[in-house]
Amino acid sequence: MIWCRSCVLPDTRPNLRIAEDGVCNACRAHGTKRRIDWAARRRQLEAVAASARQASAGGYDCVIPVSGGKDSTWQVVKCLELGLKPLAVTWRPPGRTAIGQRNLDNLIRLGVDHVDWSIAPDVEARFMLAAFERHGSTAIPMHLALFSIPLTIAVRFRIPLVVWGENSAFEYGSRDEADTGFRLDAAWLRTYGVTQGTVARDWLSDQLSAKDLIPYSAPSEAELDAAGVRAVFLGYYLEWDPEETRRVAMAHGFSSDAAGPRTGYYDFADIDDDFISLHHWMKWYKFGFTRLFDNLSLEIRNGRMTREAAIAVIRATGDQTPHADIDRFCAFAGIDRARFLAIAETFRNPAIWQRRADGRWHIPDFLLPDWTWT
Ligand SMILES: [Zn+2]
Repeated sequence: MIWCRSCVLPDTRPNLRIAEDGVCNACRAHGTKRRIDWAARRRQLEAVAASARQASAGGYDCVIPVSGGKDSTWQVVKCLELGLKPLAVTWRPPGRTAIGQRNLDNLIRLGVDHVDWSIAPDVEARFMLAAFERHGSTAIPMHLALFSIPLTIAVRFRIPLVVWGENSAFEYGSRDEADTGFRLDAAWLRTYGVTQGTVARDWLSDQLSAKDLIPYSAPSEAELDAAGVRAVFLGYYLEWDPEETRRVAMAHGFSSDAAGPRTGYYDFADIDDDFISLHHWMKWYKFGFTRLFDNLSLEIRNGRMTREAAIAVIRATGDQTPHADIDRFCAFAGIDRARFLAIAETFRNPAIWQRRADGRWHIPDFLLPDWTWT
């Protein structure tokens, strides 16, 4: 396990590579981002918006996939500024929080029509449990639904443009979107969609029928092409930074969680869903770091924090085991806590973790040599 000497992420993180000089590709990509001509990108975005307005033929100009998060508010604000008529679309998380609902209501009041797509809770519970057992991630159904539903709506309603927020491939990977064009395609989903390389039909079983899986099934490339739907990431055209998107969102009525961060470092992220923390927490078992490390690395790259200060925050915060959310998920999925923890245990990565003589698990190569293992 090797840690980037610039941020606080290890080479166990998917899509992260650390070069000979000890710096990871995410830190390196961030350095190159500063040399981007953002004014030119802005003009490109205006051209994309103009062509969508032309192609929409009197219908909605774009679909904006939204949650109750701050990026959603930012996406809506930017699309309205561009003179687009959006249809906002949400996959309704089964664990939607009160603050998530409040922020979603606020976002709709900014002046967009909205579809809140709910999936039958028993289907979602069966799917989440199956995904947790097979891949140690309760979030695979979520990622399939939130990528598929907006595309399905765009195809069915002939809406020419889907406007996503940040492209995680751009933030954490080395690929520029110049290579991939405007397409959020099957290749992108497999690599960056956080679905463990699966698509809906891979989950067909005695427990999950083809009809159960309808909302998780994305239109094919051919269907997208026939309907003339293309997707863009706003983060390609407008400099994406969590503090800046938060500032814009707050100025338009978004509120953060007064109780502090639910997981990670930000009190404005991952606050719309009770179950997302479980997905992030499993990184601890699989890769030896938590959501906090991701967030702090972004703070370091954006020059708001030193690496030493980030390490101090990690020391003070601990592993952020989401006890309350684990209990809520167990109630939702109909399992007990012991079963949940037993499944989690099967995903503890033996290449990272070692069991000590006293029975406690520890990571020999951990970032903080003085960490207290419990
Ligand atoms: Zn780094």
